Amino acid sequence: MQAALYPGSFDPITRGHLYIIERARDMGIFSEITVLLAVNPNKAPLFPTEENMALIRQTTSQWPEVQVDSTEGLVTDYAQRHNIRVAIRGLRGVTDFENEFSMALTNRDLSPDFDTLFLMTRSDYMYLSSSLVRQVAQMGGAIEQFVPDCVAVKLRKKFGQGAGGHV
Ligand code: ADP
Repeated sequence: MQAALYPGSFDPITRGHLYIIERARDMGIFSEITVLLAVNPNKAPLFPTEENMALIRQTTSQWPEVQVDSTEGLVTDYAQRHNIRVAIRGLRGVTDFENEFSMALTNRDLSPDFDTLFLMTRSDYMYLSSSLVRQVAQMGGAIEQFVPDCVAVKLRKKFGQGAGGHV
């Protein structure tokens, strides 16, 4: 069995991301899956890297083979350093396909041994994205259907809302 990466911004981690991790894990073909927080130095994320890593750790703690790490560099450089050859990515629909396809091919140009494995989302998570969650959270909408409870709590705090949520 080999190790795999699941790279992304996870800003914040959603039930859609967790579904992909669970599917990858249930395939039983990976010894380890590292959720790799790919930090873009030009973008200010919702949560600082350490806080977001702790949140991702908390939401994946039921799966012993899932680890969490971060990188500010190229995913392929991280993969080479850690001897990992496979990245897992989720596909929601045709809109994801174009971007994912070019990223997968670019990663292979950068690192010829590197492969990307795509897993389909679930139909009710097709329109779920971190940016949608950020918008709904900012407006005080109900986000529990989109993110795990501990993420919802953090988001409410972030946007200055109480435990009840709606403003
Ligand atoms: P990035 O900014 O690198 O695309 P994201 O955190 O937005 O990072 O997404 C990481 C991966 O998870 C991507 O492959 C994306 O397509 C996938 N993903 C995001 N939301 C969902 C979802 N609702 N269902 C399945 N996969 C998803």
